[in-house]
Amino acid sequence: MEKAMDHKQLMRWIDTLPREGVSVLPLTRSIFSREIPMITVGRGKKTVVYVGAHHGMEGITAGVLADFVDELIRSAQKDRVVFDISVKCLLNERKIAVVPMLNPDGVEYALHGVAEDNPLRERVTAFNGGDDFSHWQANARGVDLNHNYDAGFSEYKKIEREMGIFGGAPTKYSGEYPESEPETAALCRFLRYHSDDLVGVLSLHTQGEEIFCNCADKMSAKTLAVGRMLARLTTYKLSEPQGTAAYGGLADWCIDKLSCPAYTLECGKGENPLPPGDRGKIYERLRRALFSFPYLV
Ligand SMILES: [Zn+2]
Repeated sequence: MEKAMDHKQLMRWIDTLPREGVSVLPLTRSIFSREIPMITVGRGKKTVVYVGAHHGMEGITAGVLADFVDELIRSAQKDRVVFDISVKCLLNERKIAVVPMLNPDGVEYALHGVAEDNPLRERVTAFNGGDDFSHWQANARGVDLNHNYDAGFSEYKKIEREMGIFGGAPTKYSGEYPESEPETAALCRFLRYHSDDLVGVLSLHTQGEEIFCNCADKMSAKTLAVGRMLARLTTYKLSEPQGTAAYGGLADWCIDKLSCPAYTLECGKGENPLPPGDRGKIYERLRRALFSFPYLV
């Protein structure tokens, strides 16, 4: 059976990437010092960012983004046209930055459990209510990275408490303050630094075959139009905003603080964690949207 991509495999895959025209830089390191690579291709001024695996048991999204990077590079080398897009032209006109696995520690927990020598073992096992970490979503110390952004943070805190969450948890604990975690802090730093050139952000999660844009009051007509287009290209359902508050997710933050169109894609269908074998069919369904996104925004 196909295995899910873990951090070691991610780094091995990174080693296979060609040096020419591809830049790989560590965005930062996770709490347990795992490198969080960012792969950049293209020379354009407009920057588009793709992020996978905010959540531990959603590591399959890292593999999907690796497939995208592979096809992007291969198509550029062979001067291919993909969905009417000349990939060579695309890379001349856009810069594409991909962070396949923002939460490598969480992915590690979900795939392999918590190691005996992990200094947080006792604490996180208590949060988790046992040794089975296969449904772990947070980072190494129990902060849900996709609630750790400064967008509706204080409103979310109230909801969190109503849910009975007062500290580290396998899912849905937003942390002490926005960007308290190295993973989110580094990503926000990068996005803020590039905010003049940043034109779009896609954040891949699982599951539900749904696209979310939540930040209703800050969202422009363009953001909504691009969301509808992504829904068409993926044949995923677009959950149009209902005036609900934003809950500290990356896409909410990008719209709210950077006025940048950003979307949460709930990829695949089934029960999380999705079987690793779903990677191919998820990629197939997303391909057109992933290639088109840089020109849609
Ligand atoms: Zn998620």
